[in-house]
Amino acid sequence: MLTLAKKMQHLVDLIVVKSPVSDKEERVRLNHYVWVTFMMLPITLIAGAYHASVRNYALTFLIVLFSAYLVTTLFLIAKTRKTYLLYFVSNVIFTVLMIYLLYHADFDASMILWLFTYPLGTIFLFGNRIGFMWSCVLLAIVMVFFIWVPHVDHAYDLAFKIRFCFSYLAIAFITSWIEYYRHRYQHESEANREALLAEQSLLKEEIHRRTLLEEELHYLAQTDMLTKLYNRRHFLNCAHKEFIRAKRYGYDLAFALLDVDHFKHINDSLGHPVGDVVLQTLGEYCVSQVRDTDIVGRLGGEELAFLLLHVNEEKAKEKMEHLRIALSRLRITYAQGIEPLNITASIGVASITSEVQSFEDLYLRADKKLYEAKSAGRNCVR
Ligand code: GH3
Ligand code: MG
Ligand code: MG
Repeated sequence: MLTLAKKMQHLVDLIVVKSPVSDKEERVRLNHYVWVTFMMLPITLIAGAYHASVRNYALTFLIVLFSAYLVTTLFLIAKTRKTYLLYFVSNVIFTVLMIYLLYHADFDASMILWLFTYPLGTIFLFGNRIGFMWSCVLLAIVMVFFIWVPHVDHAYDLAFKIRFCFSYLAIAFITSWIEYYRHRYQHESEANREALLAEQSLLKEEIHRRTLLEEELHYLAQTDMLTKLYNRRHFLNCAHKEFIRAKRYGYDLAFALLDVDHFKHINDSLGHPVGDVVLQTLGEYCVSQVRDTDIVGRLGGEELAFLLLHVNEEKAKEKMEHLRIALSRLRITYAQGIEPLNITASIGVASITSEVQSFEDLYLRADKKLYEAKSAGRNCVR
């Protein structure tokens, strides 16, 4: 039964999905309409066949007309936004059918029981207010027939008439009540869903903001803000790791220390801001001169460090010599209309050998070489 209901719902969905109507409440009504139509069709077919067999052709015609209209509307759903009109016409035919059944009480008095289906159909289709109103209109017609149409009046006794009216009203009220709660529940769950979505999007925004913040903090913690090179702490961290890796896997690793010559003089003669421009230019230039896999950092002041991976001492010295020459030719513009500045740097290079046991060892060796370069008159590589 449940599988059949699921299959039916799938079929109903296939029809409803084609509708150009976008309003959610309207779509729910459309869903009801298609469901009611599907349930009505077999009933009308059986009833039509039965009444044709007992030669009640007028009723057969009304039933066939109603079924044909229902089938047609299933195709019209995809083409119209005026679904309300579809319901209205089907309800008019349904009402006429009900009045016909009522009128022919002398032919078959039990047919009046079909009228109990009326409040169900109208309230689910038109909603609480209008559906209930339609139901009351039919009840009023029934009462008029009970009182003023003689053959209907005679077909039922007073007790039946009273019980009919009360049970009809009870069905109308209960259906109204169910529809009211369905509508309210749908409204509430819709509101909850929207609130949840809004909260979710706020949460996503917050996560995004925090991720960006975290990335920024990470960057700030690792970067020297003047030169945008790795700062001392991060550079030394990387250097330690690379040193251990190089030792373990036996690949070459060279370490170079670069110190700008007479940098204090630049600061003293041209001012600290000019010294900053020189350091920024130096940082950018050095990064552009080494491989992407090499690591460059600012250890402090005007001292930069290079970690050259898979490079032996000889090659590292060659590389640093090229850098030294290029630096000495670099013309640093620090103000418009003023002659650009030249700098030179001294560089000390050391590399991993069997005697080098730790990165600190390597650092000391490079520092010593730098000192030698300074002592040898600066602007050279040792
Ligand atoms: P040497 O050739 O012996 O290296 O001489 P030097 O003048 O370069 O050496 P010293 O260590 O005496 O001077 C380094 C100067 O670098 C001193 C300090 O004021 C300056 N300095 C350190 N950090 C910064 C900075 O962030 N910006 C600027 N503009 N100057 C800095
Ligand atoms: Mg210096
Ligand atoms: Mg220095």
